[in-house]
Amino acid sequence: MTASPSVSRRRFLAWSAAASAAAVAACVPTTVLPSEGRPPTSATPVTAPVPSGSAAPNRKPAPIPTPSTAPSPSPAAGRRRTLYRDGALADGRSDRLRLGVSILVEDGVIRWIRPADDEGPTGRGAQLRVIDASGSTLVPGLVDAHSHLTMPGGARWIDRGFDPPERLVEVAEANAVLLGRAGVRWARDVGAPRGRDPVDGRERALSLGLRDRWRGIPGYPMIRAAGTWITRRGSLPAGLTVEVGSGDALRRAALGQLEDGADLVKLYLDGPDTDHAPWSVAEVRRVVEAVHARGARVTAHASRLSGARVGAEAGVDALEHGFELDADVAQTMAEKGVALVSTLAVFRSWLTFGRTTRLPRFATEDGRRAIRERQEAAEAAIRIANRAGVAIAAGTDFGGGSTRANQLAWEVEALVEAGLEPWQALGAATWRGGELLGEAEAGVIHEGGPADFSLVHGDPTSDPTALWRVWHVAWLD
Ligand SMILES: [Zn+2]
Repeated sequence: MTASPSVSRRRFLAWSAAASAAAVAACVPTTVLPSEGRPPTSATPVTAPVPSGSAAPNRKPAPIPTPSTAPSPSPAAGRRRTLYRDGALADGRSDRLRLGVSILVEDGVIRWIRPADDEGPTGRGAQLRVIDASGSTLVPGLVDAHSHLTMPGGARWIDRGFDPPERLVEVAEANAVLLGRAGVRWARDVGAPRGRDPVDGRERALSLGLRDRWRGIPGYPMIRAAGTWITRRGSLPAGLTVEVGSGDALRRAALGQLEDGADLVKLYLDGPDTDHAPWSVAEVRRVVEAVHARGARVTAHASRLSGARVGAEAGVDALEHGFELDADVAQTMAEKGVALVSTLAVFRSWLTFGRTTRLPRFATEDGRRAIRERQEAAEAAIRIANRAGVAIAAGTDFGGGSTRANQLAWEVEALVEAGLEPWQALGAATWRGGELLGEAEAGVIHEGGPADFSLVHGDPTSDPTALWRVWHVAWLD
């Protein structure tokens, strides 16, 4: 038996309010990063983005925590009203797929979310554009929690990091388009080559100038960027990273990235010797304390168990990759609130290269076997972390790995294959990433929030491949 329209509407509004409250409560106030102004709504479609050419704001080293503010539409944009009618809705917080949902958007802001059979007044009809959402699912704008905007990916992804700055900035512009079309609203950049920015002339991580220039421009993804990777000398090819040789130098380099304008700091805890972490727990802890004191967060690349253990014990905010975790490390992560950012799709990408390249690492039987073994260990690590209650956010590692900017759906699929429920994997690609960023509006849909959602075909609460089938992106509308 179906509830009467008024009852279903009351229930629906109660659910919306609860979802909003949960989204806001989930934000961690002590480490919230500065909020970013909402880009004004525009009918302009995303074409090849054009840098503004204006000087980048001079970001100070100590960001002052402020909560994200409600979007404020530009008065010049005029009233633009769109009703998305009668879709399903999946928010990644439970396995419930809500049917018969309508969302009214005004000037880029969600005015209300109501049952399609009880929408109530929609205001002046003449200016209302109605999009028939029937048969599709409304999902929050995705959050790619591990990305490298300035790099293209592919089978020679590390070589591409040595391309000239002009080329890397061009790649980032193309990646911005790919992200939007794939329904990705936010990207957390966890490492960019350092160089002279061809637009603002500053010598720093190339991601930082892009983040500053894109801020507030319709159609661009929202970016939080870690600056350049900080490595122990000998861990990666020379010239790609900020290389240091002592614990004191590590701390200075971390603070140097913040002075350059980085939103967070990225340490590399794979060392030249894979069995040993490149830094002690005490050395990493000093960095964490210094960075936290400035209101920013620290994350750590840890593809090996040795580095993951040090990072977890030192209390970094997140471990990236975590391809080798054991129950003890996962327990420490859960106790200290260390998130895990998964990048399992990289292995899937490498396995495709077994048929499409002649590079021995991918094409030989030994190479493929080694990839499969690492993949199995990484999937086991996801299960261990999930059982321990570690928060898991999803990343593609596009650019810094072989994947591409429009492949976050691949990571969601991989997480489900590793053992997460489809709704958990959707949560990893939406609000979990938002929590990791400290951004209350990232990865959530709620009344009064930005119209950051897309429409996909299929039910992501039972079928993760639905996220490949994006047909409409509300913030690009
Ligand atoms: Zn990466």
